[in-house]
Amino acid sequence: MSSLENLGRTLSEALKKLLKLPVVDEKAVKELVKELQRALLQADVNVSLVLQVSKNVEERALKEELPPGISRREHLIKVLYEELTKFLGEEPAKTTVQPGRTNIIMLVGIQGSGKTTGTVKIARYYQKRGLKTGIVCADTFRPGAFEQLKQLADRVGIPVYGEVDETNVERIALNGLSEFKEEHDVILIDTAGRHKNEKDLIDEMQMLARKVNPNEIVLVIDGTIGQQAMIQAKAFNEATPIGSIFVTKLDGSARGGGALSAVVATGAKIKFVGTGEKIDDIEQFVPADFVGRLLGMGDIKGLIEKVREAEIQVPEQRARAFIEGKFTL
Ligand code: GDP
Repeated sequence: MSSLENLGRTLSEALKKLLKLPVVDEKAVKELVKELQRALLQADVNVSLVLQVSKNVEERALKEELPPGISRREHLIKVLYEELTKFLGEEPAKTTVQPGRTNIIMLVGIQGSGKTTGTVKIARYYQKRGLKTGIVCADTFRPGAFEQLKQLADRVGIPVYGEVDETNVERIALNGLSEFKEEHDVILIDTAGRHKNEKDLIDEMQMLARKVNPNEIVLVIDGTIGQQAMIQAKAFNEATPIGSIFVTKLDGSARGGGALSAVVATGAKIKFVGTGEKIDDIEQFVPADFVGRLLGMGDIKGLIEKVREAEIQVPEQRARAFIEGKFTL
């Protein structure tokens, strides 16, 4: 079982317990915060991040004034939801793909990260949304790279451009672009993953990007490397303003929570996550939805809305009291 499934199960069980309690008092809040800490640590999240999140939850849950008609229990769930969402990046990354133009997306990543599979997954993602997609294989290093891409892409009818005997990747990339440019909305370029370290990866990315001029560069990071993902994400985030991150293999990883939180902590934007070996196992990364699922509450959105609306009423009540002269300092 992956760490994220585990994390989700632990958190939703803690919430179920909370829902059954006759009263939610300070002790119950502290108990929930302890379970949160345990669950996050088990998912390989960095210790100081865990402490920060749990401290925020505890402080807010105990100190914030309850809005009218809202129980401490509801408020606590809302605080937990908000703090976890904040911790995973709050806003979902925006898509750069625009209709009416040819969108070029270049994928980079270390060999084995899931880059080839990821290229086809993203192509498929946009194909399902009605866009015409094509893939260029600019990996001349790994034998069989073109065949692997083609095999995957053929299943979903996405064309792949490659030149088996050509060794100049720039030439292949540019030829591929002119092949697809006329009638394709999204062109994905898969690149070689032979890099031994972050610097090699970034150097090659910058070189190819100058020739290809992509609208977006996607760094594929293997989610099973856990907190180490931070090193790659940081170097990448500093090197390109048009980058987003694709964290793969979250389905089987014991360290997925570590990878996700480490990437978010660098300020890099996670746009997609990979949740399996199949081409359709890709999800857009929307922190709020992700947390909703982790907490395992179908109606969590309804609850959050209810608490937020009640909170809006608080200033209104104060304003009325002020106008009526009941407000004293
Ligand atoms: P590349 O060397 O970076 O191009 O990596 P590949 O695309 O060849 O993937 C390496 C291995 O990881 C393959 O066996 C893929 O099936 C597997 N893989 C890729 N993405 C995922 C994922 O999201 N989940 C799982 N479980 N396996 C994945």
